[in-house]
This record gives sequence, structure tokens and C-alpha cells, in this order.
Amino acid sequence: MTAPTGTGSQPAGSAGINSAGNSASALAVLRRIASTRPPQTAGERCEMCAEPIPDAHQHVVDLESRSLLCTCRPCYLLFTDSSAHLRYRSVPDRYLSFEPFELGQAQWDELEIPVGLAFFFFNSALGRTAAFYPSPAGATESELPLDAWASVQASNPAITVLAPDTEALLIRSPGPDRERADCHLVPIDACYELVGRLRRVWKGFDGGQESRQELAGFFDRISSRSRPAPAAAEPEGRHG
Ligand SMILES: [Zn+2]
Ligand SMILES: [Zn+2]
Repeated sequence: MTAPTGTGSQPAGSAGINSAGNSASALAVLRRIASTRPPQTAGERCEMCAEPIPDAHQHVVDLESRSLLCTCRPCYLLFTDSSAHLRYRSVPDRYLSFEPFELGQAQWDELEIPVGLAFFFFNSALGRTAAFYPSPAGATESELPLDAWASVQASNPAITVLAPDTEALLIRSPGPDRERADCHLVPIDACYELVGRLRRVWKGFDGGQESRQELAGFFDRISSRSRPAPAAAEPEGRHG
């Protein structure tokens, strides 16, 4: 998989977050990941077993601390069963595109995201969907009007394939060159990677030219990795 970057080599648990889960804790996770990548260090290590791992490695979400751990392949494989009631859950490596994605400008406006990009994931600790957008300070949580989000789900039933906690829907708003929003399902660590990239080049209020180029390049890469999402899944009612 693409190497998620920016996680550095901080020790496990440095995000230090309570399991009640709130916006502050989620931000702590994002800040940790979005912080400037330290100089290339020889020997990043698995945060579960301390084995050396390559730059390109996989991640596991700690559902109690809401933090993301860099892992070796054997540790990653211990937590791939998403039906198991475990503290840790491996971040899947799947990219899906949703076309057509039914989200016009009016519907986007109802989501009250102040910029043209956000990612949405289901936080199982809180039992609701959380929305984050990039800003000069890193990822910022946006209070998501849940009825507006429910209406996006109703228009796009295929997005309920989203796995809780470990995957996100990355959505670009409609704009001059897009009549409808652009939506991909991505591993949640890819969102953290994007936030880190944008933060490093962000200028002014809207991010500036360099951040737009960074974003366009990122979407090109995830588009080329994405396959079409399967047709609408059975309604599960758990993402409401
Ligand atoms: Zn390991
Ligand atoms: Zn990592």
C-alpha cells in the first residue's frame, strides 16, 4: 500500500486520548499524524512489538485511545477481523469510488463544511459520523448536522459499505469544474496523510495554489487506485 506518512516515530500512546472520544481527542490523533515528518530516521519500529518496519507499512487503530499505530505485517494481521470485539482494528487497504455521487452544491452547503474538502468517518465510540476538514492548524472537526448527513446517505446508499473507525469518505465539494461532489472511500490513514501534506503547504485562508496542486495530485493517485463501489449495500442503520 501507499506509505502513510507523517506518523513519525513517536512511542505508542503518545496521543494520550480518553476512550470517551470527543472532538479534542480526535484532533489529538490528527495532530500527531499531521505533524511535520521528522527527518528520515533509520529504523522506524512496529508500535506493538518493536520489530523494525519499512517506511511503507500498515496501521492499526486503537479504539480505546483513538490513536493510530504503525505496525509490522504480522501484528497488522492479528486485527483484520472487523467482527471481533477487540481493542485494535487494522486499517483496510481498499479504495472505492462512487459514481455518480449524488451531492450537489445545495446539499454540500447543508453540511456546513467551511472549505471545499472534508472526510467523514463513523466513530463507533460516539455512535455517530464525524467530519473533519483541513486547515492551517491541521484537521479541524466540523459539527456535522446529522439530518443533512442522513440525507446524503439516503441519496447514496452505496456509501454504507464504509467500515467504522478505520475507513473514511473523502469528499470534494462541487465547484466550477464539478457539478457534483467527488467521493472516495479510503483507508483512514490516507486522510491523515493528506491532512499532513496540505498543512505543510497551506497558505492564507483557502490554502493557496500549492495546496490546490497537492490536493489535485492526491485525488489523481486515489482515483487511479479506486475501483467502483459495489451496488448499494443492505441498509444497516448503524451510520446514522
Ligand atoms: Zn509488530
Ligand atoms: Zn506509520
